[in-house]
Amino acid sequence: LSDSRIEENKVKELNQLSISYNKMLDRLSESFEMQRQFTANAAHELRTPLAVMQAQLDLYHTTGHPATDACTEKTIQMVTDQNERLSKMVKTLLDMSELQTVARDEKIEVDALVEEVLADLDPLAEEKNVILESVCDAVTMMGSDILVYRVVYNLVENAIKYNNPGGKVQVTVCSDKEQICIQVMDNGSGIPADMKERVFEPFFRVDKSRSRALGGVGLGLALVREIVRVHDGAIRVLDNSNGGTTFEILFPETV
Ligand code: ADP
Repeated sequence: LSDSRIEENKVKELNQLSISYNKMLDRLSESFEMQRQFTANAAHELRTPLAVMQAQLDLYHTTGHPATDACTEKTIQMVTDQNERLSKMVKTLLDMSELQTVARDEKIEVDALVEEVLADLDPLAEEKNVILESVCDAVTMMGSDILVYRVVYNLVENAIKYNNPGGKVQVTVCSDKEQICIQVMDNGSGIPADMKERVFEPFFRVDKSRSRALGGVGLGLALVREIVRVHDGAIRVLDNSNGGTTFEILFPETV
């Protein structure tokens, strides 16, 4: 090769390198931005209950003493509620950060796990007057039993919480030897089309006040997505002809 040809090839190589470095930098800065956004959202969400507690305690101190029993009771109740909210948020954040380290080598009977979740959520369904149903094939997968339980529990709990009295929740489990499919269907309030992806973002809620009133902190689906991801699966919200919501999870066949 002539000297000028060699030179030309070197320049080409350098150009290629610079393009891939730039791409890497873009991806890095994107992930820093996501991290920054997550930290800002988490700080904001954690600060809200703290501010409510502080305001209630300030009010208690400024209303004069001796405080009435009713005032004391209201303060204690408010602080207890907010404290519960904070604990729930911190626990879920910790669980999310530890997901990678949980062993995923258990043989899980998915149909039995679904029945366990439905039995555990039966009292909530009764309270909300929602009917629970299941149509499950006998399916087995490898993974973390406690984490997969958490996935199904969170989805069924949401399907009950965001349903209407007299509503229905149906869980199906099937497998085609390549993939395991779990669907949780409800005929509740539904999720607007443009928010179907966003519901998996940490702290995202379609209706903040409704979620808050139902005890939600907006981390349930973010945790679900991460658990599905560490099991090499995928999750999505399907269109639901009856107006409600269907969550579908696909796990690879591992047994
Ligand atoms: P939350 O603690 O608010 O329930 P999630 O992360 O579990 O948080 O869910 C995020 C949001 O997605 C909820 O606030 C709700 O608006 C919406 N959502 C989740 N599941 C359903 C469902 N089955 N039907 C309607 N909306 C739902």
